[in-house]
Amino acid sequence: MNAELERRWQLERWIAVIRLIAVSWALVEIVLVTDFSSERYETAAWIMTGVLAAGALLFLLVSRLAVPRGYQRAVCFAGLLFDTAVIWSYALVFTLDSGAPTIRALLFFPVLEAALRYGLLGGVLLPVAQIPVLVAIEWWRSDHFEPSEFRFQSVIVPFGLQLAVGAVVGWLVKRLEQETSVAHDRAAEAEVLRDQLGHRVDLLDATNRCARALGSSLEIEEAFGAFIRELRGAIRFDRTAIVLVDDGSARVIAAAGAAAETVFPPGTQRPVAGSVLDEVTNRGQTVYREDMVDVRYPEEEDFVELGLRCRLAAPLFVGPRSVGMISLVRKEPRSFTTDEIEFVSLLGRFLGGTVQNIRAYEAERATVEELRRLSALRADFVALVSHELKSPITAVIGSAKTLQDRWRELTPEQRDSFLTLIDHETNRLADLVTDVLDMSRIESGQFSYSFGDVDLGELVQQSAAAAASAQDEVKVTPLVHRPLPLVRGDRDRLRQVLGNLLDNAVKYSPAGGEVEVEALAENGRISVEVRDRGPGIASEHYALIFEKFGRVRGEHAKPGTGLGLFIARSIAEAHGGSLEVRPREGEGTAFALELPVERL
Ligand code: ADP
Repeated sequence: MNAELERRWQLERWIAVIRLIAVSWALVEIVLVTDFSSERYETAAWIMTGVLAAGALLFLLVSRLAVPRGYQRAVCFAGLLFDTAVIWSYALVFTLDSGAPTIRALLFFPVLEAALRYGLLGGVLLPVAQIPVLVAIEWWRSDHFEPSEFRFQSVIVPFGLQLAVGAVVGWLVKRLEQETSVAHDRAAEAEVLRDQLGHRVDLLDATNRCARALGSSLEIEEAFGAFIRELRGAIRFDRTAIVLVDDGSARVIAAAGAAAETVFPPGTQRPVAGSVLDEVTNRGQTVYREDMVDVRYPEEEDFVELGLRCRLAAPLFVGPRSVGMISLVRKEPRSFTTDEIEFVSLLGRFLGGTVQNIRAYEAERATVEELRRLSALRADFVALVSHELKSPITAVIGSAKTLQDRWRELTPEQRDSFLTLIDHETNRLADLVTDVLDMSRIESGQFSYSFGDVDLGELVQQSAAAAASAQDEVKVTPLVHRPLPLVRGDRDRLRQVLGNLLDNAVKYSPAGGEVEVEALAENGRISVEVRDRGPGIASEHYALIFEKFGRVRGEHAKPGTGLGLFIARSIAEAHGGSLEVRPREGEGTAFALELPVERL
């Protein structure tokens, strides 16, 4: 509608100029061309031209002014009325003067103007409105000039011609208007498309920058730090996290923002089933939780507690497979726009590969670290074993040589003590060799067992007695709570386990200390606990001591290979049981061996 008014107003300005030309034309007609029969008509023609000139100037002025839109329509209509009135007056004046019918040609101008201004409607209505003028002209001509009869033809033919011209021009104007409006629509559409394209380019650019930032380093912290900086520039969020599916569970790879260090911090592992990650990865689609108050996934409770309400989770793709998600959380419910949802979804597509690479690198690095640690342990072991081998061998060789060289000079007691030393050191050597052999058999899966019914209570008593008799500094007390059901097991191997636990307990106990070994049946299992009052073991070493060559260094360290507990746990597990170290109130250490009663 506005476009139409605009066009009319432009037409008005154009017609204002044409009017000025018409004034000059009228002057030429009056002064040079027309031979007026009477002064009356000439005066009338001059008055008409004066009116036309005044009107032309007025309309020219008005059309150049900033006329309010509401009045423009009225000005246009007034222009048409004015022009029609002037032309009719001219037609009448010239007809009265000469009776020349050619003057009727002037009457085409209002028709054209109306058709230009108002299209088909104007082009049809104006010729109809002009019929009385045509009749008046013909009547005057027939009354005052030859031939004297009134010729209807002189009315009908011009009317018909005017109607045809008006209709054709009106129709053309309508067409033009339609074409113009289509062109306008196309231009507007093109503009929208251009904006959309620009928007997409911006989106891709932001996504690209974020993905590049994440790929800038293989160190997860560094890469994620750079990523967050870029992401903050692209979208607002209160918290974000990258979570991957790892062996059926959801592992938080990186998190930033609200409570990132306390609620689901990096490294957190949770079940995937039922979580938003489950839905995101299964459907491979972005999930938008407008408001988490109506908790739908278990993790949302923690978010709501933190005052976070709105969450966007987009899948991370590696090829067609979705391997995790990026999640953005905000405090305000329903606060992500369609554009933002699109951006985060796109980000997911770009990030998948990079995140996967970082993960693979992390895993690779962890493996290398582990290998390095194992290699260090092995090196320690080699040094230790060489030492453990060397000192008994030196002692044995020294004693044997003394006995050989000075046999006759030595008293029987001295000989006995040298022989005891040799016996003790060779036993140590034999134990060491046995441990190393056992370890290598366990590793190669050749550690054999021969199962039978074992009375663990009896085994505890015997082992305690052996440990007590082997030394006289530490008291060893067995506590066996009968009845104790028999267990299926390898008696010698189980004796080895108890022997190792008791040897350790005695070894680490202070002189005059006490070691307790307690056996009881509970919950379908038999539990044997070995307790001492030694220096204890810090909880961070609980895993280390059960590893191959795993030993705790420091002031309380005693000679050993670090193989005993590794072998003992392997034996316990081969029996379907377990061997754990238990935290103890106060001083000392407690090792618990648990074996199932109902084994085959
Ligand atoms: P080893 O005693 O030959 O070094 P083990 O595998 O039997 O090897 O023990 C591993 C480590 O566990 C020991 O080096 C010691 O640091 C620690 N440990 C084992 N038993 C005790 C205990 N009763 N009290 C304190 N530390 C112990």
